[in-house]
Amino acid sequence: MSRVLIVGAGLTGSLCACLLRRELQNKVQIEVWDKARGSGGRMSTTRPPDSSSHSADLGAQYITSTSSYAQSHQRFYSELLSAGVLQPLDSLVEGLKHRDGDENYMTPQGMSSVVKHFLSQSGADLFLERHVTGLYRRGASWEVQRKVGGSEMFDAVVLTMPAPQILQLQGDVGQMLSVSQKQQLEDVEFSSRFAVALFFPPDVVFSFPWSARYVSDSSIIRYIAADSRKRNADVLGRGPSLVVHTSVPFGLKHLEEDKEAVQPIILQELHKLLPGLPEPISIKCQKWRYSQVLTSVPDSPGHMTLLQRPPLLCAGDSFVHSNFSGCVESALSALSALKASL
Ligand SMILES: Cc1cc2nc3c(=O)[nH]c(=O)nc-3n(C[C@H](O)[C@H](O)[C@H](O)COP(=O)(O)OP(=O)(O)OC[C@H]3O[C@@H](n4cnc5c(N)ncnc54)[C@H](O)[C@@H]3O)c2cc1C
Repeated sequence: MSRVLIVGAGLTGSLCACLLRRELQNKVQIEVWDKARGSGGRMSTTRPPDSSSHSADLGAQYITSTSSYAQSHQRFYSELLSAGVLQPLDSLVEGLKHRDGDENYMTPQGMSSVVKHFLSQSGADLFLERHVTGLYRRGASWEVQRKVGGSEMFDAVVLTMPAPQILQLQGDVGQMLSVSQKQQLEDVEFSSRFAVALFFPPDVVFSFPWSARYVSDSSIIRYIAADSRKRNADVLGRGPSLVVHTSVPFGLKHLEEDKEAVQPIILQELHKLLPGLPEPISIKCQKWRYSQVLTSVPDSPGHMTLLQRPPLLCAGDSFVHSNFSGCVESALSALSALKASL
């Protein structure tokens, strides 16, 4: 039995774990490590500290399947729809550009439910607050070092964090990269933005008609979602929540500032855009340093093999594009490489 470590409990990592289990069944023991306190990565769903009835998606908002991906990824959409994880997004999203054949889906339980679905299907052992700091080649195994100290040995490792975070790893990763691979990873560019979630008392009803809106007349705010309404969570008695995403230029300008210092600027602008907004009971701000891929690895290969034996692979949206289908493509391509190497 091979011991496989997947670093990152985001969509790519959870899909890699699930597909690997389905292909190799009990021939692999799979562990998923993530430095965060919860799974989801950029598909995270947050809750205020004192309410279990509120939740909001701070990162990805909805899933779009284009007509070609609707065919090639049909099994993933069918699985998520029949499990109730996805539902058609049928509420009003102002400013959403619609192309022929596009289908939009929302997640009644929040975006992290997509990741949790694949993680539970994988039967992998999930370890949170496990920050990988370095990888060292030890014969036919990889020694994986943790931030809190200590290390563990694995037969194969798949790294699914954004390319700039792969380049920060210590140990032998740098040596495994060819000059061109290193350059390709260095050339990956991400946008940056802030996200703010506001949670309101249960009796609050928003006065505007939309469930989400792309904002075109603000240099600070790019997108606002009545998150609970978008997910039909209002009718299920869940507390109302609002999510705000800043523009990328604003995100870049304030990137090195504390989110506590940036939050009031965003809220002031929000009140200008939505005057009369009720007082929230809780607010959460998130800085997405690595938000969405602007420039991916050339030709979108899906993954990069750093070493064939013992296998060390990189995957994630850096190798395709930043959305659901990009992560599916990446996981499929990492899986075929891993299967060949194991
Ligand atoms: C604001 C925003 C809006 C978006 N909107 C949409 C949308 O509407 N629709 C859509 O389809 N996509 C959207 N996206 C893009 C989508 O969220 C991403 O493409 C996708 O979630 C990437 O998944 P991933 O697994 O590749 O990476 P990630 O989700 O980033 O997962 C990587 C994981 O690795 C962990 N990690 C990093 N370093 C280490 C380490 N050293 N040790 C251990 N763990 C580590 C991280 O904590 C993280 O959980 C959006 C993203 C953002 C930020």
